[in-house]
Amino acid sequence: MHVFDLPQAPLHFLDLPWLEQAQVQAATLRLDLIDPLISGNKWFKLRHHLQQAGASNAPGLISLGGNHSNHLHALAAAGKRFGFATVGLLRGHAQDTPTVRDLQALGMELHWLGYGGYRARNEPGFWEPWQARYPGWHCIPEGGGGLAGAQGCALIMQQARAQIAGLGWSDHDAWWLAAGTGTTLAGLVLAEAGAHAVHGALAVPRDHGVPETVAALAGTHGYQLHDACRGGFGKFDDELLTFIADCERRTGVPLEALYTGKALLALRDQVAAGLFKPGSRLIFVHTGGLQGRRGYL
Ligand SMILES: *Cc1c(COP(=O)(O)O)cnc(C)c1O
Repeated sequence: MHVFDLPQAPLHFLDLPWLEQAQVQAATLRLDLIDPLISGNKWFKLRHHLQQAGASNAPGLISLGGNHSNHLHALAAAGKRFGFATVGLLRGHAQDTPTVRDLQALGMELHWLGYGGYRARNEPGFWEPWQARYPGWHCIPEGGGGLAGAQGCALIMQQARAQIAGLGWSDHDAWWLAAGTGTTLAGLVLAEAGAHAVHGALAVPRDHGVPETVAALAGTHGYQLHDACRGGFGKFDDELLTFIADCERRTGVPLEALYTGKALLALRDQVAAGLFKPGSRLIFVHTGGLQGRRGYL
């Protein structure tokens, strides 16, 4: 096995009454289970970046995120596992969260950029001082985005396809997954090339750039976006938290409230609204993120 090869994520049925009522079958691809530390879709998004860093003999990797960031968490763990130093550029001012403590324990060097400094992350010239300070290091855009991130997500499709026969399915009809930047969604759309529909549940408001990101990486066909953020990224309400608790009790699958819980709730609403014909077979991608819920659940 190559060092950057990925473990197989299990695929299993989700038994929920609202699926059964609509005669829709759903299985979940458990990216949350691939590794105790490098969890979820972030691992797939990092893979090409790790390969590029390895190929160019980069001494380390630098990226950005917030103080509950699943992306920085996966990056710090991957760096430690595969022998790269890591630097995290964080939004806001120094804070002590379970994620930040893990980043430090995994050896990531942290720089707090403040809010204004973090907002400058997409401006030309943002990386120059960091490249001067860390010469030859590999810089990764926020959230592991870009084409390298999307390409790594093609493997998500392969992992699911390799297991659908085990469910007794000859094929499946559609994908359902949470979208934050839309990079993972774009990766699936690229890999599918129109073969199966891809549905993205937006964990952020529609005007936060997901449609543009997906269009830039994968074009405008082969997918649909659904509003799922419930008032904003990171906003929770009682219906959401009750829904998560109920699904966890019925299925044993842990969810968090930023992405996977909201995505599954949006799926319930769309299934109830008749988006999928009876007999449809869906793959719900569990994108991980459970480390982040120590901050709030
Ligand atoms: C980051 C993340 C997403 C969003 O992935 P994108 O590729 O940015 O759309 C979805 N779910 C979880 C759990 C995440 O951590």
